[in-house]
Amino acid sequence: MPLLNAKVQDVFDEPACEKNRSKDSKARKNGCSKPLIPGAAAGGCAFDGAKIVLQPITDVAHLIHGPLGCEGNSWDNRGSASSGPTLWRTSFTTDLTETEVVMGHGERKLFKAIREIKEAYAPPAIFVYSTCVTALIGDDIEAVCKRAAEKFGLPVVPVNAPGFAGSKNLGNKLAGEALLDHVIGSVEPNDVTAYDINIIGEFNLSGEFWLVKPLLDRLGIRVRACIPGDARYLDIASAHRAKASMLVCSTALINLARKMEELWDIPFFEGSFYGITDTSEALRQIAKLLVMQGADPEILERTEALIAEEEAIAWMKLAAYRPRLEGKRVLLNTGGVKSWSVVHALMEVGIEIVGTSVKKSTPEDKERIKQLLKDEKHLFESMAPRELYNMLADGKADIMLSGGRTQFIALKAKTPWLDINQERHHPYAGYDGMVELVRQIDLAIHNPIWMEVREPAPWECQHAVEEELTNTKSENETGYVLQNFVGAVAGSFGKR
Ligand code: SF4
Repeated sequence: MPLLNAKVQDVFDEPACEKNRSKDSKARKNGCSKPLIPGAAAGGCAFDGAKIVLQPITDVAHLIHGPLGCEGNSWDNRGSASSGPTLWRTSFTTDLTETEVVMGHGERKLFKAIREIKEAYAPPAIFVYSTCVTALIGDDIEAVCKRAAEKFGLPVVPVNAPGFAGSKNLGNKLAGEALLDHVIGSVEPNDVTAYDINIIGEFNLSGEFWLVKPLLDRLGIRVRACIPGDARYLDIASAHRAKASMLVCSTALINLARKMEELWDIPFFEGSFYGITDTSEALRQIAKLLVMQGADPEILERTEALIAEEEAIAWMKLAAYRPRLEGKRVLLNTGGVKSWSVVHALMEVGIEIVGTSVKKSTPEDKERIKQLLKDEKHLFESMAPRELYNMLADGKADIMLSGGRTQFIALKAKTPWLDINQERHHPYAGYDGMVELVRQIDLAIHNPIWMEVREPAPWECQHAVEEELTNTKSENETGYVLQNFVGAVAGSFGKR
């Protein structure tokens, strides 16, 4: 436990993070997670965060040491894709029971599970994750992993991020620490070139990194390790020989990129593959860093030529959507670097942005969005579900782009919705990804289902007809009664 505490404090003190630097040392010790609001979902635990980061390493066996529920909670809840191995999608857990906890059989069961996996699957490595229960009963996974690695002759990597250690984001970073401590630098490659890079924090959601990799291939740039999307164990083990790194998702793995720079002199920059401008900028930055590290400067020219060609093709494809999407209003309810890149590209095809969340955006990104939208009232930190619903129900947006959590708000307001967060089913990275995003927006907005669902439901029509009939009938009956009354009165006067 003291080891875990030291790691957590080390991760909380991040010199490469501006937000972290702006805090005093006391505030830094508490990390970045905000206190929970009563009634709100807590989000994933540290174990969940570690698993999210490491599970996309596809040829590795991921063994969860703890009760069954922990694995069920976190299994493959991102849409990462693999171009080969499938072992990462197999669940392995020691499935600890109460009796085993009481009898102290955890470590023995873990050792046995490692042996079974080795014999049945012969993976290049096994990652062992601690969880709340096994950390609390004091199972020493580091020692068991060390012993098993010696006995079975394969890397057995302890991932010490039990759920109670903190938030999902802390778990992301502890996963990075596990890679630094046990994996990266453990294999020396014999094919190093001046054009090797690492992509850090890219999860290959829906296979979207495969839209970017061909661009790098054309420039002769080799991705030594994409961490973690579609990664192989050996790629990551030899990632310390890359010449430069691009950090895609800084909130998850900034500690990894910074420490690789310190340990192995691999400079990094933070960039994004979302949006046309950002993709071009990322390619430029990669080329520049490689040149700084000794690559032939001619790569800069080739990069500019490729950017010019690819941008022209992408804008031409996007222009086809302009007549259908011009003037359509989008509400962007997402976070991070995606906001700025996506806002820019959507505006280029004539789409109006009626609101965008900037909760996770950096100050520079916020400034860029402000300049683009020219009206600060379109920026919001976070919007309550009720406000989102009102905005959509009042017809102030034609579509909402967000994560799965808010999809039902849009659907309840009978408004088209598109998933642009981690569970999405379409790849949106790179030039082709941007075209795909606009295509999906077009499909969602013009889906004929919206005409149907906005019509009154059949039972509402039926109800309206019945009400009409009832009204008519009661009017008729009233008329009939009146007629009789008038007739009777007239009759009685006649008799007189
Ligand atoms: S590690 Fe702890 S918090 Fe996370 S799922 Fe397991 S029991 Fe729950």
